[in-house]
Amino acid sequence: MAAPPLSTPYAAVVPDTRSILPRDVFTYLVPGELDEQAVLGARVEVPFGTRTVTGYVVERSAESDVEAPRELASVLDEPPLLSPQAVHLARWVADRYCAPLGEVIKAMLPAGVRNARPGGRKRGPRTTSRSVAAIDEAPQTTAPQLNDAQAAAVAPIVAAVREHRHLRLMLHGVTGSGKTEVYLAAIAAALGEGRGAIVLVPEISLTPQTVARFAGRFPGRVALVHSALTDAERAVQWRRIRDGVADVVVGSRSAVFAPLPSPGVVVVDEEDAGAYKQDRVPRYNAVDVALELGRLHDIPVVLGSATPRVETFFHAKTGAMDYAELPTRIADRPLPPIEVVDLRDELQAGNRSPLSQTLERALRECHDAGGQSILFLNRRGSATVIMCRSCGDVLTCRNCSVSMVYHQGRGRCDCHYCGATAPVPMTCPSCHSPSIRGLGMGTERLEHEVHQLFPTLRLLRMDRDTVAHRDAYYDIYETFRRHDADCLVGTQMVAKGWDLAGVRLVGIVNADTALHFPDYRSGEITFSLLTQVAGRAGRGDEPARVVLQTYSPDHYAVRRAVTHDYLGFARDEIRIRRALHFPPYSRLVVCTVSHRDDLKAEEEATRAAEKVSGILESGDGLDVLGPAPAFLHRLRGEYRWQVTVRGGAIERAFPHLPRGRGWSIDVDPAP
Ligand code: ADP
Ligand code: ZN
Ligand code: ZN
Repeated sequence: MAAPPLSTPYAAVVPDTRSILPRDVFTYLVPGELDEQAVLGARVEVPFGTRTVTGYVVERSAESDVEAPRELASVLDEPPLLSPQAVHLARWVADRYCAPLGEVIKAMLPAGVRNARPGGRKRGPRTTSRSVAAIDEAPQTTAPQLNDAQAAAVAPIVAAVREHRHLRLMLHGVTGSGKTEVYLAAIAAALGEGRGAIVLVPEISLTPQTVARFAGRFPGRVALVHSALTDAERAVQWRRIRDGVADVVVGSRSAVFAPLPSPGVVVVDEEDAGAYKQDRVPRYNAVDVALELGRLHDIPVVLGSATPRVETFFHAKTGAMDYAELPTRIADRPLPPIEVVDLRDELQAGNRSPLSQTLERALRECHDAGGQSILFLNRRGSATVIMCRSCGDVLTCRNCSVSMVYHQGRGRCDCHYCGATAPVPMTCPSCHSPSIRGLGMGTERLEHEVHQLFPTLRLLRMDRDTVAHRDAYYDIYETFRRHDADCLVGTQMVAKGWDLAGVRLVGIVNADTALHFPDYRSGEITFSLLTQVAGRAGRGDEPARVVLQTYSPDHYAVRRAVTHDYLGFARDEIRIRRALHFPPYSRLVVCTVSHRDDLKAEEEATRAAEKVSGILESGDGLDVLGPAPAFLHRLRGEYRWQVTVRGGAIERAFPHLPRGRGWSIDVDPAP
């Protein structure tokens, strides 16, 4: 007897292939005997052209969009690799970031899982990373009695966990104010309800100490997910999580896709960290994905930071998100005072050393007293802006008020949003001084100069060059923690989360490099960097100092950082964003084209800009900016030009954006 016809005989399948496809999904006919297995999220085999490829079922439907769909060949796993919520999340990511659905699914599943043959449950090798070792070695801890502010922050989270209700909570508190204890209490509540938790931490802050905090509180239940794991290790963690063996997932960006069967809470620590944005396809921001994950599962999402993104803060203040504050450090340790040194005065006094007289003296005193010091120099954007050494002014775009970027080869400056260009002036447009030139000095030269001044100082340097892999990072950290070095010279890597009682001096060698980063967020980046670096001092019982050197002591981001005034900063910044129509008052999508030939890239970008602005109507409320050279105009031998669309409903522009060879699309770009 023939089986009754299926109610949804068709499956929309995303093929897992390397080729660029004209669309995301293809329709197949599900044979009756596979009906119960070929469910949403199942990994299947389908005929594709002349081959058979793997793919993922993302929809079952009653109708087919093609005349005679081919038959689905087989179903590879049971249970399916993706839960229904994971499929929804994948579709959301693909839509929001204008990314191919197949690429999103690839990003969600570790290669060791995607490529495993059926039943493949091989044990991976034991992982060697020190963070992973911290899981087993962590001594067990118990929760402290929460203080009033912590209890007030935890209450709505616990209520939302129990009531199975979506909640977005911004947890704002300086470093050391007890945020992690709030996270731990929220996780305990989720576990108490028989559910799991996901904790996202920026890769660089995923230190053994951090991991031990979670593993010590929830022994045997923590799975660690970070970029240094091998494919096999990742697959092992993935299965532990999927099978319910580990229900507290601690990890970097991609851990937002962890296959927890039943999450109860999602935590994002340091939500302002740039590392949450993936810089390759799919270009998602894990913070926004975390919020969507919380919505899909009806659970609370907690975003913690000492320096929230002003967008997040804006949402918290306008009611789109709840807000809780931890206003003081535990044990009421004061934040260190910050002394400001105006580098324009140093220059006038004839001092060309990277250390002002104040900082040099402070370093000597600290060293003589047996203390440790950190010298911070942000290399980001160095030597790409044109600055006057006499008055501190930087060449900025008249339309966008971001720094113009100096491109050596082009011999002129460009605004990389709107494409305005200007020749490099011979004298400063503001004060007519001739000392106008590129700004920048690397950590390597700083280390050298400090060594010349203090030959007996035991120096360590930490930057991308000295930290080629994550264990090198811990080696430097451990050396410094053991006080086997006196002074640490480093980039923003040293700014993150380190809690070292021996540090009695933090010297910010040039507070301005991030300030002149050619991005509308430069003020925000500067404020949070300065706040974080300054926060490295004053964690022990000895008094500590922070010396901040700047050419722009009057800039709002510098002034507000010096007085530890986040609220004042956020007010200033939000006002500027509104005036210039930048997020949170708009969203951006940046389309970049690369070509070996600069002119060809420029032409193609021009054509795209004309096409998009021709199609969009003025009622759409979208501006097309550019074409303009990208900030990294030349990258890996290719020239890059970009077109930016800015406005409220930028999704309207998505169907018209340039695609294909050489083009990439970045929605909600990060600096
Ligand atoms: P943050 O995550 O904001 O940097 P932590 O949660 O790490 O802050 O807290 C800073 C320090 O204070 C940690 O050593 C932590 O164990 C301790 N601490 C936090 N909350 C309490 C509390 N309620 N009682 C006692 N100690 C606490
Ligand atoms: Zn000047
Ligand atoms: Zn501009």
